[in-house]
Amino acid sequence: MSYRVTIVVIKAGWPNDPEEVDSVVKQYWNYRDELSTYEGLIFKGDRLLIPETLRLKAMNIIHAGHFGIQSSIKRAKQLVFWPSMGRDIERFVEDCGVCQKHSRSNVKEPMIVKQVPEYPFQIVGSDIFHFNGGNYIVIIDSYSGWIDFKKLRSMESSEVIDHLQSWFAIWGTPEEFHSDNAKQYSSLIFRRFAAEWKFEHVTSSPYYPQSNGLSERAVQIAKNILKKCYEDNSSVQLALLNYRNIPRNSKLLSPNQRLMSRITNSPLPVANQKLKPMSHFTK
Ligand SMILES: [Zn+2]
Repeated sequence: MSYRVTIVVIKAGWPNDPEEVDSVVKQYWNYRDELSTYEGLIFKGDRLLIPETLRLKAMNIIHAGHFGIQSSIKRAKQLVFWPSMGRDIERFVEDCGVCQKHSRSNVKEPMIVKQVPEYPFQIVGSDIFHFNGGNYIVIIDSYSGWIDFKKLRSMESSEVIDHLQSWFAIWGTPEEFHSDNAKQYSSLIFRRFAAEWKFEHVTSSPYYPQSNGLSERAVQIAKNILKKCYEDNSSVQLALLNYRNIPRNSKLLSPNQRLMSRITNSPLPVANQKLKPMSHFTK
């Protein structure tokens, strides 16, 4: 109800005295110059204003995957607004049972790699890891920080190659592919795959272990997502969708923005404008 009242005030123009507006509308007084309405929705700039009754629901979506306070705030600021949003999210994450239980395993800022890629899928890392009785393959793009992981049905090289081919078919063949020397990556058929798809395979060795640092970081992120989603039985794919949209910082932006120059849609409300491709280089 207060939402509709606020729309009426915005359309009619704000009075000079804050005492003249309804108490539910007064919370927006300090932002009055930045508020606009479009098709029955209220925006602050290009962020959607979330009414009080929907804020808890919004925070649940913002926190999908249980990323930390700063990540959750960055994700929220990308799309939505309400007064005291930062404080509300901070309290919400602090009170989250799953996060409390795994307080030390919140995903930190993404990795720094020695080689600096110039575009997405130039340098890619992969690894195999175990979680809760299953084996998984993870992939990470160094340029964007975009990750994905899939459960393996077998530990055969061919299974690993199948997954990599699906990813490369979407994003293109990497120039450099980093992994360890696990048998799935060092088999004859893997070498043939690398030769046929024409990518350079860089493997870590006891003399050069840091070459797989990129993939190890991806394993940590993937395991954290699996662990926390397993804990509260929430969707791993929604957690990944969220992760890929969380800005790393104001320069690097989110993995999705780095990879495909756009934010992807999610259950969070969003201004349509935000979903259009943009050039993050000109920002
Ligand atoms: Zn949490």
